[in-house]
Amino acid sequence: MKLIIYLILIYLVYKVIKTWMTPSAYSGKKEYGSTGQLDDVMIKDPVCGVYFPKKDGIYLNSDGRDLYFCSTECRDRFVDSISKK
Ligand SMILES: [Zn+2]
Repeated sequence: MKLIIYLILIYLVYKVIKTWMTPSAYSGKKEYGSTGQLDDVMIKDPVCGVYFPKKDGIYLNSDGRDLYFCSTECRDRFVDSISKK
């Protein structure tokens, strides 16, 4: 009888681990937002201050810094502002 209980426990643990391993399980979780490790992390546009998913951002490398913008318009505004210095 104990063996059946162990098997049920192992099955439940397996199910939980499988859920963790599935990438879609991350989409609704916000506690990963500030780690910067996942693709769906939310970051702030330095020009207009809007928050957006990093994967949807426009990438720019400025002085060795990785910057992301919500649109090419914001990126261009940023490039303009630093070139005027
Ligand atoms: Zn913007």
